[in-house]
Amino acid sequence: MKKRTSKKRRKRIILAAASGVIALVVFGCVYPPKSFRAVKQPREGRAMNDKVAIVYSKHYQINVGGLEKLHSFDIHKYAKIYLALNTAGLLRPEDVFVPESDTEEQILLVHSPEFLASLKNSKTVARYLEAPIIAAAPAGLVDAAVLNAFRYATGGTILAGRLALKHGIAINLAGGYHHAKPNAGEGFNVYADMAIAIRALQKDGLIKRALIVDLDVHQGNGSAVIFAGDEAVFTFSMHEDDIYPIPKAKSDFDVELPAGTGDEKYLRLLAMCLPKVIAAARPDIVFIQAGCDTLAGDPLARLKMTAEGIVKRDAMVIDRCVSEGIPVVMCLGGGYSENAWKVQYDSVRRTIEKYNPSGGNRPRRPTAKEKLYTK
Ligand SMILES: [Zn+2]
Repeated sequence: MKKRTSKKRRKRIILAAASGVIALVVFGCVYPPKSFRAVKQPREGRAMNDKVAIVYSKHYQINVGGLEKLHSFDIHKYAKIYLALNTAGLLRPEDVFVPESDTEEQILLVHSPEFLASLKNSKTVARYLEAPIIAAAPAGLVDAAVLNAFRYATGGTILAGRLALKHGIAINLAGGYHHAKPNAGEGFNVYADMAIAIRALQKDGLIKRALIVDLDVHQGNGSAVIFAGDEAVFTFSMHEDDIYPIPKAKSDFDVELPAGTGDEKYLRLLAMCLPKVIAAARPDIVFIQAGCDTLAGDPLARLKMTAEGIVKRDAMVIDRCVSEGIPVVMCLGGGYSENAWKVQYDSVRRTIEKYNPSGGNRPRRPTAKEKLYTK
């Protein structure tokens, strides 16, 4: 009898120890390191050299116990870019403008009440995000673990719009959900953050006219549908012709590129179109969807740009806006290769270094916990 009890006890101790270890590992993965805890509460940051504002929130991070890694979109790319800027000494946590989540009222500036209601169904959200695994999860969990992150990212794009009007350049280290439409999400996109930001700025009387420069390899079909027939908002999209979305929507100006297009042709076409597009749009603000799925080797597309070419592309639009005195917002958009985050980091780094040449702090190595958290 005694022997059996001690055997049982031993079993219980082993079980308790094992669950302790599991809890510690899960906690270690989920509990944010200090650099991320510092960008959790919404607050003002510091525009570098009074010219460049960076918007980021710890809440952009989707963490569903590793399941998020099954999706082709590297949702940790936002966190990787933030961490890389921080460890390179280019961005202190206190510089970051930390957004609030957007509000239902703001979402309704673009989306329908029916669309909002549809988000209470996990299967529908799974379809929008092309992530079948989500369909089986309870709606409350999907809202808290997934949709919440997109609401903060949308809040970030709205905040970036306000900051660009004040400082000139604002970069949201997320956003660019250009496939979302008033009544439905699609192509990994739920809320149309750039459109919501434009409508919110218009509503507050801060802008009248806007231009979307969509450089993601996929057409900005959501933006095109939302602003069709709207004289005040000009949609420009440069994209690969033979991939999703098929059929394409009609932007105010579309440039279709064949598979295999590389830097030289891409940059020549962009340099040719950009002045015309800006002249036609006469914008009070420009939103760039700077998707880097134009990179050679991207699993979802077949353009052949190099990392340097993409940095030049973003620089061409940002520098042109600055030289013409037009406030500019950059959102990250797509990019599905393993090193997509690095290309966008290089692009953001270029902008910070150009417009804040005397800035910069001492670089440091990321901690083991930071590496684990963003892996
Ligand atoms: Zn894309």
